[in-house]
Amino acid sequence: MAEEEDRPASATKYVLITGGVVSGLGKGVTASSVGVVLKACGLRVTCIKIDPYLNTDAGTMSPFEHGEVFVLDDGGEVDLDLGNYERFIDVTLTRDNNITTGKIYQSVIEKERKGDYLGKTVQVVPHVTDEIKQWIQSVSTVPVDGQTCPADVCVIELGGTVGDIESMPFIEALRQLSFSLGKENFCLIHVSLVPVLGVVGEQKTKPTQHSVRELRALGLTPDILACRSAQPLIGSVKEKLSQFCHVPVENILNIHDVPNIWHVPLILRNQKVHEAIIKQLNFAGWHHKMYIRNKETSALSFCRSAGPPDLQDWTEMAESYDNLKNSVKIALVGKYTNLTDSYLSVVKALLHACVACSLKPSIQWIAASDLEDATATTAPAAHTEAWETLKGSSCILIPGGFGDRGISGMILAAKYARENKVPYLGICLGMQISVIEMSRNVLGLLDADSEEFNKDTPDRVVMYMPEVLIFPPIFMEESRDMPSYLRFDNGLSRYGNPPHVDERHRHRYEVNPSFVPMLENAGLQFVGCDESGKRMEIVELQDHPFYVGVQFHPEFKSRPRRPSPPFTGDALLLGNKLINLQISKFSGR
Ligand code: GLN
Repeated sequence: MAEEEDRPASATKYVLITGGVVSGLGKGVTASSVGVVLKACGLRVTCIKIDPYLNTDAGTMSPFEHGEVFVLDDGGEVDLDLGNYERFIDVTLTRDNNITTGKIYQSVIEKERKGDYLGKTVQVVPHVTDEIKQWIQSVSTVPVDGQTCPADVCVIELGGTVGDIESMPFIEALRQLSFSLGKENFCLIHVSLVPVLGVVGEQKTKPTQHSVRELRALGLTPDILACRSAQPLIGSVKEKLSQFCHVPVENILNIHDVPNIWHVPLILRNQKVHEAIIKQLNFAGWHHKMYIRNKETSALSFCRSAGPPDLQDWTEMAESYDNLKNSVKIALVGKYTNLTDSYLSVVKALLHACVACSLKPSIQWIAASDLEDATATTAPAAHTEAWETLKGSSCILIPGGFGDRGISGMILAAKYARENKVPYLGICLGMQISVIEMSRNVLGLLDADSEEFNKDTPDRVVMYMPEVLIFPPIFMEESRDMPSYLRFDNGLSRYGNPPHVDERHRHRYEVNPSFVPMLENAGLQFVGCDESGKRMEIVELQDHPFYVGVQFHPEFKSRPRRPSPPFTGDALLLGNKLINLQISKFSGR
């Protein structure tokens, strides 16, 4: 047994990812990919994203500016990078895994008000930096992979670019942390850019040199450089970077452009990122003896041994993505279009579903407002193009959204899908749209609407959360953050027939239960609801190949190898009749 080898709770080691030169280098994908490789070595991995902005969380930030707001199991509304970590590393993170300046200052100010600082002058150093260190060390010990003992490695991604004023307290806290933990517990990977200039296409190292110098001036020295470039780096460039950046040449890694991001863990593995990290963090000494703590007895027992990364599955997945041939046009009718980041998880969930059934997704972005009648006069070309695109698509998806822009266009798209038997998936707002559309065009309730868009309508088919009965909602109020449990007896069978299904939510309005009987008579079946029976979770249209709306956001729990059932168009139980709807019913007619 393992008692004599007892592993201290503080044994979690850190891999910090910083970025230099420009933003948008893909630090999130690098952090996730490093996590994938380390996990494939047998190490248990957790992640932290640091966002140096003053917002306490991403919940109030516009998806237009900042990309989608990702929702976690605990209801945390966080940066989209946490979605990347969850999808790549297959972990379940908590809201505390996303640290922001807002959260840190809120906590420091609360402590100051309580008198915790005993009359001291409260300062960025040491109070804010101490708070950051404590937060990192405490959240890194929370297991995120369903096990009970802390992870072996915590990958920390520092948002922004080194040198930003906002990130200075974090850099200082991380410098102190690396110093106190020692090199064998703290590895720094700096992600940088090697641009190409001139007709001869020379790979330029100077921006990287400058950004490493900036980092070193702040007291942090990179152990590994991950250089982004269009083409693979040539050997002499690596040597030059090594010499001027004080990083061993074998630790100069290159992330060149790849056909799809699932290749990034593979190119890092090929360049032996795991060996560099394992050597630096001295895992080789003990990592072959890892222990797991028994919940009841607290005893540690031998768990497994770590070895070279096994990325067989991952390789097959990346290659199958490259080899997708049969393209399927999916119309995505939303408020923010052409902005993949605004609907990142929806796009990823579509990809997971398509890869599972060998289809190549071709997303047709349609601005909902372009479908509206009014646009026919104001911008006729855009209107015609939007309708041609919609009609030329194999299926239609209306994702979540807030506010009334484009709502009439979405209703027209849902009507088109219903009448023409085009596969339709409505997510959150998209489900509410299908209810409004049916109410207006089938039940003849011409003013049917959601309270969100028309507070005075007599036919509030979508209303402020029925059991809360407080109206109006406060602007930017926190969305509902509890998990919803769907009754199995008329829920989704392909979820594996559990007693209930747990999906993530982010909304304030729901279907008004008093309209349910009328809508059901008209053919819109409410096939999934919460255990109280009052909150409608899934609608499905009868006599239609696939017309499904879900109040929850299935995209947040979709994983590369576990696509979400609503996206794969899997079997739904409609009454007692099992309709086996295969992927083709949603992702391609
Ligand atoms: N705006 C709608 C609501 O608040 C839908 C939200 C969403 O789609 N995430 O209920």
